[in-house]
Amino acid sequence: MIQGLTNCFIEYNPALGAGYRLSVEALQCVRIEVADRRQANNEMAARLLHKHRRFIQRRINAQSEARVHTPPPACTAAQAMQLLQGDFDHWQSAMQLPRWSLVLRHAKTRWGSCSHRTRRIMINVQAVHLLAELRHYLIIHELAHIRYRGHGRRFWQFVARFDPDYKEHRQRLRQDYGWLLAITSSV
Ligand SMILES: [Zn+2]
Repeated sequence: MIQGLTNCFIEYNPALGAGYRLSVEALQCVRIEVADRRQANNEMAARLLHKHRRFIQRRINAQSEARVHTPPPACTAAQAMQLLQGDFDHWQSAMQLPRWSLVLRHAKTRWGSCSHRTRRIMINVQAVHLLAELRHYLIIHELAHIRYRGHGRRFWQFVARFDPDYKEHRQRLRQDYGWLLAITSSV
């Protein structure tokens, strides 16, 4: 978890030749440049943010006067929908569940929810910034509620069939990415 981070950009920079460059800019913003065009994505950004979180935190603490909060940018609504719908469709058929629809929301406090009344699953659009394994855990969790409403033993057994590391993923989602929700709710 990085306190005070306001923004993270990732971009392709062919001039680098190889590897990547990470810098903390004014107003607690992280800029990441990558030499490989295919790595200029949110997943890579989340991985590098996590890897360099101590360095970033020190730099942000040093810039402590500025207090501007804006949400992380990086992808368009259409790109978010494409990514999350793809994961959703994959797991919905892998888990052999009835066809419910996916809605994306800029939710302030929740990563996801499941409505039996409307047969819809809400996923927070900020999920595009998560590491793939955490994004998959989130989607598996919400889809599992189609079959089990509460968080009982059978619910978790069902989740574990598709994500054996769900306990670790659940904890990391709370610990490492709570700031994404906090940023969303401050704007
Ligand atoms: Zn749940």
